Amino acid sequence: QQPIQVIGGGLAGTEAAWQIAQAGVPVILHEMRPKRFSPAHHTEHLAELVCSNSFGAMASDRAAGLLHEELRQLGSVVIAKADEHAVPAGGALAVDRGQFGQDLTQTLASHPLVEFRRGEVPYIPEGIVVLATGPLTSPDLAADLHRFTGMEYMSFFDAASPIIVGDSINRDIAFMASRYDKGEAAYLNCPMNKEQYLRFREELCKAEQTELKDFERETAKFFEACLPIEELAQRGEDTMRYGPVKPVGLSDSRTGERPYAVVQLRQEDKAGQLWNMVGFQTNLRWGEQKRVFQMIPGLEKAEFVRLGVMHRNTFINAPQLMLPTLQFKQRPTLLAAGQLIGTEGYTAAAAGGWLAGTNAARLALGKEPLALPPTTMLGALLEFISSASPKHFQPMPPNFGILPDLGMKIKSKPERYGRYRDRSLADLSSWKVNLT
Ligand code: FAD
Repeated sequence: QQPIQVIGGGLAGTEAAWQIAQAGVPVILHEMRPKRFSPAHHTEHLAELVCSNSFGAMASDRAAGLLHEELRQLGSVVIAKADEHAVPAGGALAVDRGQFGQDLTQTLASHPLVEFRRGEVPYIPEGIVVLATGPLTSPDLAADLHRFTGMEYMSFFDAASPIIVGDSINRDIAFMASRYDKGEAAYLNCPMNKEQYLRFREELCKAEQTELKDFERETAKFFEACLPIEELAQRGEDTMRYGPVKPVGLSDSRTGERPYAVVQLRQEDKAGQLWNMVGFQTNLRWGEQKRVFQMIPGLEKAEFVRLGVMHRNTFINAPQLMLPTLQFKQRPTLLAAGQLIGTEGYTAAAAGGWLAGTNAARLALGKEPLALPPTTMLGALLEFISSASPKHFQPMPPNFGILPDLGMKIKSKPERYGRYRDRSLADLSSWKVNLT
């Protein structure tokens, strides 16, 4: 049997290769380290954690924790090793990164069906292939992927605005309208008077920023069109009012007046559970983003599912290119997972790797590829990335806002999230019969 090729031994690729081998299909796992390093990787271990050592909250009524639990049910090797090498982290699943990476490397290398090849793969090979080269995909492979997908379907820099849970926005203050009443009222608008605007600007100017790494500063130079909100604030008192928070063409239907400034939120998902702060790409530290953005009228209790980031990040326009089975529409024998397809975070990368590996093996064995139930966190995430609006597509972490409605109103958040968890785990348990 022809081996399946997995390119990239990060979180997604390691999980994918393991699932392929466990299904009885030979696999070649290509990893360019230590011959070549990305600007953020420093070891030769598989699944190196490039920054934090945490996989997020552990409790299964939290989004990350639910995804951990789903992965445990599915037999993920990444989560099994994370559990084995966990260190105390106050409610989060954090690991001893050295032991975690070393153990995964040995575990994969000792599997009889895994052939481990060290070296860069500069182009997409023929056959059944899983691409899992992550946000810092090597330039040659990125160029080949660029050619394969078409110019407009890839991003090399992520300048993303925060995304907020719809329920946490105060609708007594924020109003629905489109500028100049064009078309359907499509935006939620948070109005500010002069005093509120000036106070907000002052705090934005003072807020602490993250340091861009050298390689990110280089990439960011080409991104002048997309300036961080704090940079606009610093350029002058009214710069933001001529940019992302301009009030022209908007009046508050309740007062009939034009606000001094308006922060607009654009709907991110079909169900209207997630809202994106338009033009608020930022380099502010995460704690600072929460503090300053909650000063915006209507966002006092905003719950952020993703905070703003500006960093180098190679990802494809998955809604245009991918199926929820993680196959490319234009070439079903090519699958992909991880940050490269726009799922955000370590756990999401491993989870996508699980499905891409499972489906690659199914293709090799002549079986139908599978999609997960959309009521599971993984199923919802992959449904989102394969069906979101391609025009504004940005990477997405696991969060409860992408799950289908429960069909009933439950006010208490812990109870609501508990119900989501129960539904997800029950549906996953029934779905698992498909795996045989
Ligand atoms: P990776 O884990 O990056 O794995 C990709 C692998 O492919 C790498 O080992 C790379 O060496 C290899 N590779 C690349 N090109 C080739 C090639 N042509 N041939 C062979 N091998 C190749 N997420 C979090 O949850 N927490 C964090 O703290 C966090 N910090 C981050 C910090 C930075 C600087 C970046 C860029 C991202 C961060 N992320 C974080 C986001 C993301 O979840 C992680 O990058 C995650 O590791 C993605 O998993 P992956 O498997 O898609 O990619």
